[in-house]
Amino acid sequence: MIRDNLDIIRENIKNACLKCGRDEKEITLLAVSKTKPYSMIEEAKDLGLDNFGENKVQELDEKRKENDGLKWHMIGHLQTNKVKKLLSGEVELIHSVDSVKLAKEINKVAHNLNKNVNILIEVNISNDPNKSGVLTANIDELIDEILHMDNLNLKGLMTIPMISDDDSTRKYFRDLNNLEKELNNKFNLNMDVLSMGMSNDYELAIEEGSTIVRIGTNLFGKR
Ligand SMILES: *Cc1c(COP(=O)(O)O)cnc(C)c1O
Repeated sequence: MIRDNLDIIRENIKNACLKCGRDEKEITLLAVSKTKPYSMIEEAKDLGLDNFGENKVQELDEKRKENDGLKWHMIGHLQTNKVKKLLSGEVELIHSVDSVKLAKEINKVAHNLNKNVNILIEVNISNDPNKSGVLTANIDELIDEILHMDNLNLKGLMTIPMISDDDSTRKYFRDLNNLEKELNNKFNLNMDVLSMGMSNDYELAIEEGSTIVRIGTNLFGKR
């Protein structure tokens, strides 16, 4: 089942890239394995996937203990009291940094472990009161602080837009891409990661510049 699903997803990624003239090598398929057993991760690994996303630290840590050679991504809301556990092993990328308080805690724990941690800022690009992520209006302040933290590498932005029609979704993705460019100019950065697009909208996201698509349902089945 995973094999067939993956074939379809790879074909769709390829076609989305063809449609907008991008190289499919620019796109990382992040397999969102939350709630799924390790045996499915093993199966996906044997099909060539090596990036896995989890939204709970406890679950990520348990699966990481099964195989710490895989690239583990934290994509869910992160509480400060879970940072130590998250950083007790290898983390490829934390997608969900959305406050100064959280950034400070990650930086502090990373400093104590003598590590550098790759992070994305989660942006609430659709200003949805029900969504986590920093509001666009508050992002300058957050970046200003992060740039003073020696153990964080700010790689880019992530978003989960509110559910809406394709045109609006496309616009949110485009907004995130433009925001990253603006911030690169304003702060003299070279962020180049855009984590956007899930099962329902990853092709749109690729057309709008996504570099990481986070796919759960379409790969592993319904949760
Ligand atoms: C669960 C989750 C996904 C995957 O969603 P699907 O619709 O199942 O592909 C992607 N990103 C985040 C942050 C998630 O929590």
